[in-house]
Amino acid sequence: AHLDRMAEVEPKVGAFLHVDRETTLEQARAVDARLQAGEKLGPLAGVPIAHKDIFATRDMPTTAASKILEGWHPPYDATVTRRLREAGLVILGKTNLDEFAMGSSTENSAYQLTHNPWDLTRVPGGSSGGSSAAVASYEAPLSTGTDTGGSIRQPAAVTGIVGMKPTYGGSSRYGLIAFASSLDTPGPFARTVLDAAMLQETFSGYDPMDSTSIDAPVPSVVEAARNADVSGMRIGVIREFAGEGAQPGVLARFNEAVQLLESLGAKVVEVSCPSFETALPAYYLIAPSECSSNLARFDAMRYGLRVGDDGTRSAEEVMALTRAAGFGPEVKRRIMLGTYALSSGYYDAYYGQAQKVRTVISREFEAAFHQVDVLISPTTPTTAFPIGERADDPMAMYLADLYTIPSNLSGNAAMSVPCGLADEDGLPVGLQIMAPVLGDDRCYRVGAAVEK
Ligand code: GLN
Repeated sequence: AHLDRMAEVEPKVGAFLHVDRETTLEQARAVDARLQAGEKLGPLAGVPIAHKDIFATRDMPTTAASKILEGWHPPYDATVTRRLREAGLVILGKTNLDEFAMGSSTENSAYQLTHNPWDLTRVPGGSSGGSSAAVASYEAPLSTGTDTGGSIRQPAAVTGIVGMKPTYGGSSRYGLIAFASSLDTPGPFARTVLDAAMLQETFSGYDPMDSTSIDAPVPSVVEAARNADVSGMRIGVIREFAGEGAQPGVLARFNEAVQLLESLGAKVVEVSCPSFETALPAYYLIAPSECSSNLARFDAMRYGLRVGDDGTRSAEEVMALTRAAGFGPEVKRRIMLGTYALSSGYYDAYYGQAQKVRTVISREFEAAFHQVDVLISPTTPTTAFPIGERADDPMAMYLADLYTIPSNLSGNAAMSVPCGLADEDGLPVGLQIMAPVLGDDRCYRVGAAVEK
């Protein structure tokens, strides 16, 4: 049924980079055979899923939406894809994204645009815009994404679905094409909070293959999603993120969600986090710095594309030609920014300073979580913007993640859950719920209460 739905709407939505009907049906038959043979599989066995094309999949190509990885077939599965395969989920295909997950609209894909199913002239958010569009358009019931600065929560918010950034280290980065390793976090997209919880619980947990994986018992998020009880919970509204600067329709829905939580018995207080305003500039030094280091591995020798001919004289020349042809403009901008920020003489002034800001933000979160159980804000300052509107203005594009980035810098858990449609454009608005490190269950509890 999902493959048929894809055949119908994919020409308009463009969520997928790779679909292979036969491989999908083969997987489905294999799951069926396992069940027939009496194998005990998880509750999601047989459920189809779409994966962001940044997770390695051993039977499908993996490009990170970059020309530099065109034609690369990974010889292995990412831990997330492997665990979901073992649990019996069936892969529908690989979804579009901003090249190497750098962007907020999926317009930086080297291959195609993805359209927001609510209004095809608008972006589906990014960088995981293919995954959000696939679920919002009913092409897939579930999908995976990665969140480095908001790339799960922001696309979830602007397409009216649930998206969760688990605690950093709570879901494995093994087999994920690296962008900024200290921030990258795999997470789920779904149409309900409970679906997202079941998906997260199936792929997360300690992985010895990831050096930053957390080896600690985690509270059940499925139980929390079923519980959905917020009575007696202390909820903090971040003053700096709930005032001017946001679209009026976004603020109206946010304020209603606050009232709803109060009516359900939560105690809502205002919390000030003054340093959060410095998160965006700190992120745009740290993320490009890590990206410039991570993307050095694309040297034209190991993966995908290689540009050169008989007249090419040296390995360096092949590398330069390949990187010039294989990386898009946003990726090049970040490699240059990051290389500059890390260069000797500038390191302390830029990267070092950004790391200090990061520490201050983590401390501010810690102080806030002494007062409250969760913090809330709108997920994004605006609803989905028109395709092309911010494409030539990186600064305007970066602002889409103003509210999501602090949680990446501190590593805490954060969710976006739908909270209605904005009056001025009828487009979905997301409520962001932030919880302490390993407090993912609190996001699910509050998210499920708001959803009801
Ligand atoms: N939009 C942010 C960026 O461009 C976040 C991306 C992400 O979370 N992968 O870096």
